[in-house]
Amino acid sequence: MSLNLGSFLAPATLFSIRGGVHPETRKYLTADCAIETMPVPPLVRVPLQQHIGVQAEPVVVRDDFVLKGQLIGKARGPVSANVHAPTSGRVIAVGHFTAPHPSGLPVPTITIRTDGQDTWGDRLPRLRPEDATPEEIAARVAEAGIVGMGGATFPAAVKLNLRDRYPLRTLIINAAECEPYLTCDDRLLQEHGEEIADGAGIMARALGVGEIVVAIEANKPKAVAAMRRHNLGLGLKLRVKVVPTQYPMGSEKHLVKVVTGLETPARALTAELGVVVHNAATAQAVHHAVRYGEPLVSRVVTVSGKGIRRPANVRVLIGTPVADLLEHCGGLVEEPDRLLLGGPMMGMPIANRRVPLVKGTNGVLALTRAETRKADVMPCIRCGTCVQACPCGLTPFEMNAKIQADDLDGAAGVGLLDCVSCGCCSYICPSNIPLVQGFNFAKGRLAERTARKHQQEETKRLAAARTAREDAIAEKKRQAMAKRKAEMAAKKAAEAVATSSEGEPAK
Ligand code: SF4
Ligand code: SF4
Repeated sequence: MSLNLGSFLAPATLFSIRGGVHPETRKYLTADCAIETMPVPPLVRVPLQQHIGVQAEPVVVRDDFVLKGQLIGKARGPVSANVHAPTSGRVIAVGHFTAPHPSGLPVPTITIRTDGQDTWGDRLPRLRPEDATPEEIAARVAEAGIVGMGGATFPAAVKLNLRDRYPLRTLIINAAECEPYLTCDDRLLQEHGEEIADGAGIMARALGVGEIVVAIEANKPKAVAAMRRHNLGLGLKLRVKVVPTQYPMGSEKHLVKVVTGLETPARALTAELGVVVHNAATAQAVHHAVRYGEPLVSRVVTVSGKGIRRPANVRVLIGTPVADLLEHCGGLVEEPDRLLLGGPMMGMPIANRRVPLVKGTNGVLALTRAETRKADVMPCIRCGTCVQACPCGLTPFEMNAKIQADDLDGAAGVGLLDCVSCGCCSYICPSNIPLVQGFNFAKGRLAERTARKHQQEETKRLAAARTAREDAIAEKKRQAMAKRKAEMAAKKAAEAVATSSEGEPAK
């Protein structure tokens, strides 16, 4: 379904979003830290699942020598992403390793002992976006293994191909960066704004839209000024919109609401409104893939929190272990209360420090006890504060009560699956109830249940198919047997007739 949008999508005014919170941003720790490049670590661990969708298939084996940018995991199916060697070295393992995820479950991972030379293999041929077709641009983005680098990790080429299904009008570059502490996109905009603008222009060309809006939160004036300097060419118009500093402004649907005034229905795509959103770092990766043929092998990560000796913005190779990055930043001042990948609102605690940084990692935070504001959990007082804060218009306390009563269907009935896990409700709750943690857990259980149900249905389907096959074979056998019997009976009858005619006296 596509909606009638009128002729102009992004008006000059801004619109407000429901709910949201204003956490202390604490961006000052790294806001002035220019992007530095971390040296090649001794080892990189590259998971084959760094994106939403089907995991990539390994195309190297142990002992293979690989060059930087070489394909090591091939995308399987349309919603999947290629994986490339982040640097040169020898593959020392193709097996399971702990995922950079709170579950700590092992995922298929390719481990490379680096040679320190960082030698590039053959890069993809350069494309001139001015001459390339939308299909060629989308194919290049897919080849380069680019995924949403704001954390969503949706394969970027899939979004670029939405032009076939929806009448698109506007590309929004998400540079809101609303999570406290994170400044990597801010620094990217300031230092590499031209590349981001170019990548945005390339994506707009692939999408067939004529308008690009770069949305930046008001607390990044230098980034706003930097982006206002860039012109695009390609006949495209780039506008910078300063959006209010309000968490979760970086949530795709909320950003679309603020910029366009259009509300994306629950579980619908913004593309249905004619709008596609890509992160600023994703746009830079597209620029490199198209102009220089470079796949996505590194990204900029904010390393921050009072537990870090030297907070920084660092360009790291994908697969770099968290421990090595922490060491690069001077190590820890004290044992952190929470060690997170991502921001403090939506970030995930990690199982151990050997886990690797992946395409979607935008931050590593070591938060001290003083920063985590932990207090005892108290009973819900039904104050309704969480309801006011929820940007999705849900009733978090009600969902929580149902989950506590083990009523997952009831929780789903009051909107659990529409929750975007922003954490506003937990942040604001005066009783310190870990609401979002409960929602994430319940969503996981629901997903597991759905997967189990699918599996049971598939088993039933396979069993029914087997029974039908066996019945068909038995029926065939029965018919063949009946045919043989009939033939034998006919033969016997013929023989009997012949015998009786032989015995007749001659006339
Ligand atoms: S904010 Fe906390 S205490 Fe208040 S209603 Fe929501 S869950 Fe209950
Ligand atoms: S975590 Fe979910 S329920 Fe809580 S405020 Fe965000 S969207 Fe609403």
